[in-house]
Amino acid sequence: MSRIYLSPPEVGPEERRMLLDAFDSNWIAPIGPDIDAFEHEVAERAGVDHAVALSSGTAALHLGLLLVGVGAGDDVLVPSFTFVATAAAVTYVGANPVFVDCSASNWTIDVDLVAEELATRARHGRLPAAVVTVDLYGQTADYGPLAALCDEYEIPLVEDAAEALGASYRGRPAGSLGTVGVFSFNGNKIITTSGGGMLVADSAELTDRARYLATQARDPFPHYEHSELGYNYRLSNLLAALGRAQLRGLDSRIERRLRINRSYRSALANLPGIEFMPIADYGEPNWWLTCIVVDPEHFGAGREEIRLALEAVDVESRPTWKPLHLQPVFADLPAVGGEVCARIFQNGLCLPTGSALSEEDLERVCETIRSVPN
Ligand SMILES: *Cc1c(COP(=O)(O)O)cnc(C)c1O
Repeated sequence: MSRIYLSPPEVGPEERRMLLDAFDSNWIAPIGPDIDAFEHEVAERAGVDHAVALSSGTAALHLGLLLVGVGAGDDVLVPSFTFVATAAAVTYVGANPVFVDCSASNWTIDVDLVAEELATRARHGRLPAAVVTVDLYGQTADYGPLAALCDEYEIPLVEDAAEALGASYRGRPAGSLGTVGVFSFNGNKIITTSGGGMLVADSAELTDRARYLATQARDPFPHYEHSELGYNYRLSNLLAALGRAQLRGLDSRIERRLRINRSYRSALANLPGIEFMPIADYGEPNWWLTCIVVDPEHFGAGREEIRLALEAVDVESRPTWKPLHLQPVFADLPAVGGEVCARIFQNGLCLPTGSALSEEDLERVCETIRSVPN
């Protein structure tokens, strides 16, 4: 029995071929034809005009915040229920995250809390410099009302779509729903370049500036000339080649992860005290991870007992994100609400959802979960 991981990479002969073609072409640099092609292909997929390939999703968030004008001393609304990178990037530009709870109906940033917070802040002349949204576990936030609020207060919206490539909101692709959008190609995401990210936007002005900042802010001179400081954030051409091969398989990966989600639902939904992450009717997730919430009283065992039982048969599962307002590193920062995501964290578990998960793997996971209360 081999170990079942939460969301391992899945690569095949096409990935190998394209990676080695790039290798053989000697474009072994953070510049080259596969980067240009990968940017075009991701932009097309995300329904935006422009994209910049970067070394990570975190780097893309960092540059995205700089591009929309967030700077030292600014406040930025950030969902509490997310991976640390979303808020870490805000601190990189010297700004302060303000953590907003999620909605129980879709686990993404609570629109009513955002509306209240913006109204209060408008009265006190303390509007945030940006709102960052996260498309959580592959499901987009509720962009209709969020975009309307950001328009009303003239605040840029940064869409952290790191987990949501291929998802959509009312027919519009994830990544295209804010002023700028961010993707991650980390090893556990729905497609991977082992490490990498992408910043997307409709504005060429923004993506040109991102490209400039990502290449050490080098001015156009034959020698190295710099009038500003930038970063070394570009993606390798080798990894872009890998990403292009992965992108070709995106639809089949989404399809597979949807089928895994359905299998879990039919195998576990009849158990008392097990609920699934709610799927809103406003869009189509990419089904990145399947997450459950365990009610210990009704199920007869808690989230940790399930996790440990899975670990005992060599299955990796993971608690849902620990809310950022509860993280020691952010203990001094303000939070708007927070009980909803705290409760999901207490009882939530992400199940193995890798696109290469086999029927036997699924059976091992489900059988183990079913056996826990006994
Ligand atoms: C993975 C992830 C990131 C960071 O992406 P990296 O490529 O690992 O830097 C940011 N935000 C969210 C929500 C993520 O899941």
